[in-house]
Amino acid sequence: MISWTAYRPENEDKMLPATGATQEQPLPLSSKRLLLEATVEELQAWMASQGHPGYRVRQVLEWVIQRRAESFKPMSDLPLVLRQHLALEWSVFGTHVAFHGRSPDGTDKLLLECRDGQRIECVLMTEDRRRTVCISTQVGCGMGCVFCASGLKGVERNLTADEIVEQVLRLRNLLPPGNSVTHIVVMGMGESLANLDNLISALDRLCSAAPDLGLGLSQRRVTISTVGLPEKIRKLATLNRQYHLAVSLHAPTEELRNELVPVNEKIGLSAVLRAADFYFQTTGRQVTYEYVLLHDINDRLRDALALAERLQGRKAHVNLIPYNPVAGLPFERPQPEAIRRFVTVLRDRGVSATIRKTKGRAIDAACGQLRRRLDDPGLSPPVPEPASPMTVDVP
Ligand code: SAH
Repeated sequence: MISWTAYRPENEDKMLPATGATQEQPLPLSSKRLLLEATVEELQAWMASQGHPGYRVRQVLEWVIQRRAESFKPMSDLPLVLRQHLALEWSVFGTHVAFHGRSPDGTDKLLLECRDGQRIECVLMTEDRRRTVCISTQVGCGMGCVFCASGLKGVERNLTADEIVEQVLRLRNLLPPGNSVTHIVVMGMGESLANLDNLISALDRLCSAAPDLGLGLSQRRVTISTVGLPEKIRKLATLNRQYHLAVSLHAPTEELRNELVPVNEKIGLSAVLRAADFYFQTTGRQVTYEYVLLHDINDRLRDALALAERLQGRKAHVNLIPYNPVAGLPFERPQPEAIRRFVTVLRDRGVSATIRKTKGRAIDAACGQLRRRLDDPGLSPPVPEPASPMTVDVP
């Protein structure tokens, strides 16, 4: 008798075959091969070496991609011996869930621990029929935006394509059966375009309609948010994809942007806008500008007027994000009147603008906040808030 324990990959080492099947010891999780990292050719070669037919590869992958298997145990139409062999050498996922938080407003946040011990965050937001996942692209962030929790300790490394895919699958697996992810926003930890190749490889895979590859999501429902790296924006524009681009502007002038987004000193607001214009011209897709509203810093009347002037004549949309306070940082959320004034000034001058309502505050949903809180025991634990009527506004 095999003693099946839990479905979690970390417990698969216990899925040993009964006596006689094999004398091999399972590899520790840290040295198992990762299913989502392997190419189809590698998987087929492994199947052949074990004496199994090649079509088993598609079956295994469909179990993970479509049928939500997180280990080999539930793959009931696969021979038991194959499942045992797979469990000895392979792991479905490379991360494990270090923390799962659920906010009263229906937001789930996962803190995933990678095989090297690094932790990354991802969030699922459910709103009527829209099920949006927000994913990370790096451990930490090197951009140093002064108000953001993600970059406080700099960047550690890029995530691999399978670590990016895995965030979406793990969050999708939290949804009721039959419901899948409808939108992806790349707005978690990290500078998305600093990891462009792995990100595109992961997103292309997630958008693929092949059942053993992806979720069949439309590229138009994926938003990539960037601090604004002009060369990478231009490269993305020429990749012939339909991903939506959101550029984090946060200030209407070079001086203020240099203060809030220090990499701007090397890049320059004008260069960012030129690259965004190129993206629009090349792809035909309207760019969104994100603007975090910080009390008394960039939410003043003159900031709104200057932003309207900068953007006038551009076919663009501004997404205003009232600041989500970060413990230990001196920035505050603006007054409601300041938010209203800002949006009115933009709209009156013909600039399309909406206010993004915050979800998941009780679980530190803004990028980098949860990881930081769990890393620093001095910070108080997340405090549940009453259910909020707020909505997520992502184009
Ligand atoms: N590096 C990418 C992704 C960052 S996260 C980028 O710069 O766009 C997505 C958005 O959330 C960015 O606009 C970022 O500046 C913003 N953000 C970061 N911390 C925030 C906070 N505490 N409150 C509100 N928005 C925040």
